[in-house]
Amino acid sequence: MTVHTASQAAYIVAALLFILALAGLSRHETARAGNSFGIAGMAVALVATIALTLDQGITGAAFGLLVAAMLVGALIGLWRARVVQMTGMPELIALLHSFVGLAAVLVGWNGFLLVEHEPGGAEARHLDSLGTLGIHHAEVFIGVFIGAVTFTGSIVANLKLSAKIKSAPLTLPGKNLLNLGALVVFVALTVWFVIDPRLWLLIAVTIVALALGWHLVASIGGGDMPVVVSMLNSYSGWAAAASGFLLENDLLIITGALVGSSGAYLSYIMCKAMNRSFISVIAGGFGIEAGPSGDKDYGEHREVTADGVAELLSNASRVIITPGYGMAVAQAQYGVAELTRKLREKGVEVRFGIHPVAGRLPGHMNVLLAEAKVPYDIVLEMDEINDDFAETDVVLVIGANDTVNPAATEDPGSPIAGMPVLTVWEAANVVVFKRSMASGYAGVQNPLFFRDNSAMLFGDAKDRVGDILTAL
Ligand code: NDP
Repeated sequence: MTVHTASQAAYIVAALLFILALAGLSRHETARAGNSFGIAGMAVALVATIALTLDQGITGAAFGLLVAAMLVGALIGLWRARVVQMTGMPELIALLHSFVGLAAVLVGWNGFLLVEHEPGGAEARHLDSLGTLGIHHAEVFIGVFIGAVTFTGSIVANLKLSAKIKSAPLTLPGKNLLNLGALVVFVALTVWFVIDPRLWLLIAVTIVALALGWHLVASIGGGDMPVVVSMLNSYSGWAAAASGFLLENDLLIITGALVGSSGAYLSYIMCKAMNRSFISVIAGGFGIEAGPSGDKDYGEHREVTADGVAELLSNASRVIITPGYGMAVAQAQYGVAELTRKLREKGVEVRFGIHPVAGRLPGHMNVLLAEAKVPYDIVLEMDEINDDFAETDVVLVIGANDTVNPAATEDPGSPIAGMPVLTVWEAANVVVFKRSMASGYAGVQNPLFFRDNSAMLFGDAKDRVGDILTAL
């Protein structure tokens, strides 16, 4: 068997392992196995690709460079994965997406320099003899476009998620026309490039795509960021697939398509969960106009102490906990799990209500609760628990804000209007754990805090949960 045939077989094995990885990652119980399949698939893919490269006869110096680059990359990856906090995951993922985008741009430019820039060169003559030169022009152009949009879009997402820039949407005049115009320019330039591949056309499309990626993500408000992250995940997949076509690497095409389509499907699920139009979000907030600012006076809020909450819980028979991003920041999940155990021992029914976009990652709260060994069967999705709040004695809102904001259902002018939320205010008593009266990620004031049946328990969620445990 030649090295080429063996690596093609290895690519099929790797592709199957990636499919098993996706299947495994779709359920809590099989997620760990899914991760292992993914690692195994990537190891097989790397070994096969290196073997193929060696077989094609590269110089010793080039091989040394390859190994050095892989070692440096692996060390940086290991270090980042070890030190990253759970709350820093989304911004790290956004940064990783930007690398895929950048790689696709570089592969595209490399393809151009090898073929279009050197029309008499070996590579160009080879493609010409196969009759696929025109297809190559299109692959270069489309790959660079998708890669550049992914690159700057992911950088803006990273800056927004790490709070280095404001999460509020950028609303340039005629923003929809700007996005639409960039797409029209892209299509026109692609046709031109396929007919007459010039360097300036590639430079122009790179600049247009970099600006479009930046503008698309900058125009999307904080509340819609979950969809943006999964959408960029999808774009990074298509960028990788485009590189796969250029590099004539089947595995890269398959993997890119898997990531692209699963990311697109995740974006669709997220949009449905948030009652947003898929097209509107992927088009950079097309048709969404910013609502009036939330400077409304909602009156006075009420405060409660940890002892007061302990007493409330002692007299309750039904309790629902709705965690949010603040629980992740405070790392309060272990205390929350302990509180749940204690209350259940006393005969109190305790359940969790999980909003699909609570935290900063899809499934963020589920991961934290599983880590703290909260039983899966008392952790319910929003749709499963939303009708039960009216019969609940106490709701503990632990570091959640946007996901329990009644303005989403009651104020049509609110930037989060229409987003389904956990209807915690229907319970007899609501206790909100947070450090101040600050707004949530979407930057919208929360009228829940001022309701008669709500009380604020200020301070770090982990400390306050600890205080309640002591008082109990
Ligand atoms: P929010 O981000 O709306 O609010 C979190 C609250 O936690 C803040 O109001 C903050 O208030 C409080 N908090 C922060 N640190 C602590 C602490 N140490 N102790 C106690 N409280 C703390 O949370 P939600 O989970 O309700 O909503 C998620 C938001 O993030 C949504 O807007 C969603 O669209 C967006 N998003 C979600 C993603 C996902 O995939 N899930 C991805 C990207 C964005 P204070 O500062 O006063 O303490």
